Amino acid sequence: MATIAVLPGDGIGPEVTREAVKVLRATAGRFHLTLAFQEAPLGGGAYDVAGTPLPDQTLAVCRQADAILFGAVGGPRWDTLPRKVRPEQGILALRKAFDLYANLRPAKLFPALTDASTLKREVIEGVDILVVRELTGGLYFGQPKGIQTGPEGERGVDTLIYTRPEIERIAKVAFEAAERRRKHLTSVDKANVLASSELWRRIVTEVGMAFPGVRLDHLYVDNACMQLVRQPKAFDVVVAENTFGDILSDEAAMLTGSIGLLPSASLGNGVGLYEPIHGSAPDIAGQDTANPIAAILSGAMLLEYSLKAGTAAAAIESAVSRVLDKGYRTPDIQQPGTQIVGTRRMGDLIAEAVRAGSGS
Ligand code: NAD
Repeated sequence: MATIAVLPGDGIGPEVTREAVKVLRATAGRFHLTLAFQEAPLGGGAYDVAGTPLPDQTLAVCRQADAILFGAVGGPRWDTLPRKVRPEQGILALRKAFDLYANLRPAKLFPALTDASTLKREVIEGVDILVVRELTGGLYFGQPKGIQTGPEGERGVDTLIYTRPEIERIAKVAFEAAERRRKHLTSVDKANVLASSELWRRIVTEVGMAFPGVRLDHLYVDNACMQLVRQPKAFDVVVAENTFGDILSDEAAMLTGSIGLLPSASLGNGVGLYEPIHGSAPDIAGQDTANPIAAILSGAMLLEYSLKAGTAAAAIESAVSRVLDKGYRTPDIQQPGTQIVGTRRMGDLIAEAVRAGSGS
């Protein structure tokens, strides 16, 4: 049996997470998986009842779980709180508590949504990219950091630093992902200018010796940004340090569609955390209009990466694709001639499609 900690959070978080759990239950039924779900508060709602966005009890639930399914946190109600108790601190503290150093963001185009992309059909058709971003090092955390005042006035300092173990572990995650996919890894750096990138390139190449079946190439980050929009089909898995990965993962994600479609996984040495890339969308919360597909696909990633149930994960992706093929859309991805459905109905349709299998 696998235990999943469910942290719905704020805004549309509970609405989309409920649909993800619904689809996971349907998938468990079809593939004979035993899943137990344990819900706990995180974010603004947790602050309201416990005075902190990450209560100890929530942390304890997560520690005992095999994986964490998270919705989204935040909202205008909590925007004036002191920074250290804001809802967003809850998710940052969770990432830190589990040392979630690898952020995986797939960008896969559903055939039914090809014409919704801003890129031409022939460029975008068939795109299926996984960006692996280093999440706990680099410029965002390197010391020294801060704004100081010296004789020449103010100066802002950030430090781009990477150690061998940090590079080795993220490279290994990326090679393993490539091994399970189309066996092509592109490492992105700025090794012509940055010392940290020079080390990054050397160590990624070394780690690659243990993965002879994976083709490795290196791109400078400026060129990678251009190639992602010029020929996105040339990419399979992309690995990059924190800052470059932040930018590249947004660029790759937006090739393929709405923010409501995009899942993510954050992995460390223990429990993994799965969440849609969108926020709590307070503007549409409580209206049954949010797109639950990003949350549902986050559930699929949970099955694939934490529970090693790849076939069950693929069944969810296929169910989403078939429901879109039939013309069902939430308002954010509506196109002429499609049928608009709400959050619950979209979840029901995908759960039904999972139960029915690929013949539906
Ligand atoms: P957002 O992602 O919540 O919303 C941006 C826009 O996308 C909005 O117009 C929203 O309606 C739309 N949108 C988002 N998800 C959607 C979905 N599933 N279906 C349909 N439309 C969707 O970003 P924001 O407005 O910048 O932030 C709102 C709140 O969320 C803030 O408090 C922010 O701090 C928080 N936030 C949380 C996370 C997280 O929990 N990981 C991430 C980003 C933002």
